[in-house]
Amino acid sequence: MSEKLSFVNPTADSPWGTYLSQVDRVVPYLGPLARWVETLKRPKRALIVDVPIEMDDGTIAHFEGYRVQHNMSRGPGKGGVRFHPDVTLEEVMALSAWMTIKTAAVNLPYGGAKGGIRVDPKKLSLQELEKVTRRYTSEIGIIIGPHTDIPAPDVNTNAQIMAWMMDTYSMNVGGTATGVVTGKPLHLGGSLGRVKATGRGVFVTGREAARRLGMDLRGARIAVQGFGNVGSVAAELFAEAGAKIVAVQDHTGTIVNSNGLDLAKLVPISRTDGVVGFKAGGDIVPNEDFWNTPCDILIPAALEGQLTAERAQKTTAKLVLEGANGPTVPIADDILAERGVLVVPDVICNAGGVTVSYFEWVQDFSSFFWDEDEINVRLDRIMMNALNHIWDTSDKHKITLRTATYAVACERILMARQERGLYP
Ligand code: GLU
Repeated sequence: MSEKLSFVNPTADSPWGTYLSQVDRVVPYLGPLARWVETLKRPKRALIVDVPIEMDDGTIAHFEGYRVQHNMSRGPGKGGVRFHPDVTLEEVMALSAWMTIKTAAVNLPYGGAKGGIRVDPKKLSLQELEKVTRRYTSEIGIIIGPHTDIPAPDVNTNAQIMAWMMDTYSMNVGGTATGVVTGKPLHLGGSLGRVKATGRGVFVTGREAARRLGMDLRGARIAVQGFGNVGSVAAELFAEAGAKIVAVQDHTGTIVNSNGLDLAKLVPISRTDGVVGFKAGGDIVPNEDFWNTPCDILIPAALEGQLTAERAQKTTAKLVLEGANGPTVPIADDILAERGVLVVPDVICNAGGVTVSYFEWVQDFSSFFWDEDEINVRLDRIMMNALNHIWDTSDKHKITLRTATYAVACERILMARQERGLYP
């Protein structure tokens, strides 16, 4: 007998609602561990903080910040911090829960956590951005730490922001605690390979899924939504393998070219002007047309809830690689499965980032840094092992890769929960 949470009101398609239905689908495969499943349906701890700063014009502005620790049964909390004007507690809860599933799915010794600030960083000066970051870090400083909860970059946060977070936490505790965040600059305890790790993981899992489907990557048509750190890196790797990037969408719009977009030109232009800045290299089309651009592989690498029922119905893709967290709503997942479209779920597909974050954390503690080849070899091995294990589970139970991933991950989490027992 457990009461419903009072502080969120999820709908079928909202991030927390999506997560809850993903958990519900796995219950039949948990056996006696199902007794513990309620533990996954609520966060262990959620902190809401006020982030006041003095703006450059002398006014005082307040922003709302969050850090949610969803589960720590298998290790410290782990997960990024997102700066976005639409961030909500409900969204951060779902993102923290997906981190719990993700770290367990690839078998990293972590739980799941996530943070966010409801702010549009594009409207802040560099100095204001630093103030927001530092005040937020100081406020959540009471629950984060190298052995308790380790933040990292996510949407609109980067290595510089991680450096400010590391410094603020370190100033508050005395000393230099490099292990408190990952995704730091290289000379501050960062790791080689971290920036490209998420996109690389999307490529490695996608290449293996394509191979198993008998799809040749040479000439395969790919549509990518979101052209930041994840989408653009994955696109470049697929293009190197001979695929054609036929559509790209970002916050500025959508560009298509059925012969393949020239990434050597598109990537640098997109950094300053967005993808529509590359008018010379393709056609700018209405955003909704992105979803019916003929393609073989679809990579949603932007925000949650993008792959709706209607869009799942119209995509021509045979393979969906979830670079974003939570891009597919549950009903769209069902439609894709019925239509025979294979989905490599976010909690495996984009786990490359947190995997190299783990390498960074290990290197920080041992003060011994690996070369990039070693990072990539280890990353590829972890991603391939995880994917193969999940593929076998999906074949065995005749379930989707997502439900198979949840079955593997939830078993690990709930086994740890059971073995630790309830305290007191
Ligand atoms: N924000 C990334 C994710 O969603 C990385 C998190 C991390 O490295 O801790 O997986």
